[in-house]
Amino acid sequence: MGQLIVSKFGGTSMGDAECMLRSAEVSFRQGSSLIAVSATSGTTNDLIALGKTAEAQVWPEAEKILTKIESRHRKIAEDLQISGESQKKLEVLFEEMNSLAKGVYLLRDCSTKAMDTLMSLGERMSSVLFAEAMGRVLTKHGSTKKVELFDVRTVLRTDDSFGKAKALTGEIATLCSQHLGFLRDGKRVVVTQGFIGMTEDGFTTTLGRGGSDYSAAILAEGVAADVLEIWTDVAGIATTDPRLCPQAKPIREISFKEASELATFGAKVLHPATLLPAIRKNIPVFVGSSFDSEAKGTWVRKDVEDHPLIRAMALRKKQVLVTLSTPEMLHAHGFLFQIFKIFNDHKVSIDAITTSEISVSVTLDDSTLLNKKLISDLSQIAEVQVEENLSLISLIGNNINHTPGLGKQIFEAISDINVRMICLGASKHNFCFLVNEDQGAEAVRRLHECFIEAGTEEMG
Ligand code: ADP
Ligand code: ASP
Ligand code: MG
Repeated sequence: MGQLIVSKFGGTSMGDAECMLRSAEVSFRQGSSLIAVSATSGTTNDLIALGKTAEAQVWPEAEKILTKIESRHRKIAEDLQISGESQKKLEVLFEEMNSLAKGVYLLRDCSTKAMDTLMSLGERMSSVLFAEAMGRVLTKHGSTKKVELFDVRTVLRTDDSFGKAKALTGEIATLCSQHLGFLRDGKRVVVTQGFIGMTEDGFTTTLGRGGSDYSAAILAEGVAADVLEIWTDVAGIATTDPRLCPQAKPIREISFKEASELATFGAKVLHPATLLPAIRKNIPVFVGSSFDSEAKGTWVRKDVEDHPLIRAMALRKKQVLVTLSTPEMLHAHGFLFQIFKIFNDHKVSIDAITTSEISVSVTLDDSTLLNKKLISDLSQIAEVQVEENLSLISLIGNNINHTPGLGKQIFEAISDINVRMICLGASKHNFCFLVNEDQGAEAVRRLHECFIEAGTEEMG
C-alpha cells in the first residue's frame, strides 16, 4: 500500500488557472490523497476589507470589492472550463458573500464571528476551482481516481475563539476516522479547505492568518498521514526570508525543534503552529515550491544529520516591548504569576521575556495594544511602559546556549545597532533580541553574512 500524503497549497499556488493546474500536476505526481488549499492569492485580504468597508457603511466601496472577488473567481472558472455543477456551487458562494456583506452593512457590525464566516468564503471558493483543476489533471493522465470536494468543517472541530480558533485534536481524530477513513484505499483524491473549521454548535471559525499550513498538519494528524507536504512559492525553508536577504540559502533538512522556533519567531513560510501536530505524530514535513517542484525543497524531521550552531535566522516585525515595574516585586513571590494570569485571561501570548529584581519586560505583537483592557489590567499591579516600532531577531540553531563566544560574534556584527532586549539561555535552539524596526532588516543581513554566507548554494 502506498504512502498517505496530505498536501497543502498556499495562496500564490492558487493564483490563477495556470497556477492551479500546475499545483494539481504536483499533487498528481506526488500521489496526494488529501489536499488542503488556501484562498486564491489576495482574496482573504479582500474579504477582510469587504467586512470592514461594509461595517463602516461605505457600500459603493464594498460593492467594488465584491465585484473584484467575484471576477477573480469567474475568470479562473472560465479558464478552467468548470462543470455546470461546480459553477452552481460557486454561484451559491457568491450569493452567500453578497448576503453576508449586506448583513454586516445593515447591522453595522462585523464581529470576529461574522468575519470568520466571511473569510471562510475564500477557501470555500478556491477549493471548488481546485477540485476542477485536479479533475482535469487526473483525466489528462488517464487516472481512474475520482476527485471529491470535501467540506473540512465536517472534521475540523475547533473551540469558539473566532479569528484564531483552537483545534480540538481528540474530536478531529474521531471525525477523521468516521469521514475520511477511506483515504488509504487510494481511489479518491479529496480536495478540501485550509484555514477554516467549525465549532460544535456549527459556527464557522478560522485558525488565524496563514492558518492553512496548520489545517493541513491537523488533517495529517487526524488521518495518520505518512507525509505532510507544504507547497508554496519558495523552494523550501531558507536560512532567512529570501525577500529580506537575496543571499538566503536553501535548507535541505531541519529538525522539528529548529523549524518550530523559526516559524514561531517570524518565518512566514510556515504558520507557527504547523509543526505541533506533525511532532505529536512524528510525521515528516516537506516544504517545496509548486512553481518548481523539481527543486529539492526542505525536509523537516525529528532527527537530522547535521546540527549547525546557526542554521537560520528570522525577523519578526511590529513588536512592542511592555515593561512592568513595581518595587513590590523585590523579594516577593507571586508577581510573575499575577502578570501571566492577566496575559492568560486576555489570551495574549508572549514571545520573549526578561526580568530584573523589580521589573519584567515581555515582547508582544503590536496588535495586542488594541486590547486597551489588557494594559489597564496590567496597570493595576505595576507601572507599565510600552515601547513600539521594534523587531525581534532570532538566530536559530543548536547548542546556542552552551557555545562560548557566540554572543560576542553576534554583537560585533551589529555593533552600531542598539539592542533593546536580549533573550538567551532558555532554549538551546534560539537566541533572540530586539532592535528598532528600521534597523531590523540590516541587522539580519549582517548576521546572515557573518554566520551563513561562508557556504555556497543560493536560493534560486
Ligand atoms: P503561502 O501563500 O504559500 O502560504 P506565504 O507567503 O505564507 O506562502 O509563505 C511563503 C513566504 O514566506 C515566502 O515567499 C518568503 O518570502 C517567506 N519566508 C519568510 N521566511 C522564510 C524562510 N526562512 N524561508 C523561506 N521563505 C520564507
Ligand atoms: N487564506 C488564509 C490567509 O490568507 C489562510 C492561508 O493562506 O494560509 O491568511
Ligand atoms: Mg502561508
